[in-house]
Amino acid sequence: MFEKAKCKLCRNYVRFALRHLKQKHPEALYDRDVAKLNMSKVMEKYFD
Ligand SMILES: [Zn+2]
Repeated sequence: MFEKAKCKLCRNYVRFALRHLKQKHPEALYDRDVAKLNMSKVMEKYFD
């Protein structure tokens, strides 16, 4: 779905952004954009 993206929270490169947030940054799931699966905003906010 996405090419590897660089996480702004931990600076790792990840292939599955949403899964990465769920596993490594569960606090991000409280974000409104994440809860609504607004992926373009999620990518903008958490990934380079
Ligand atoms: Zn991360």
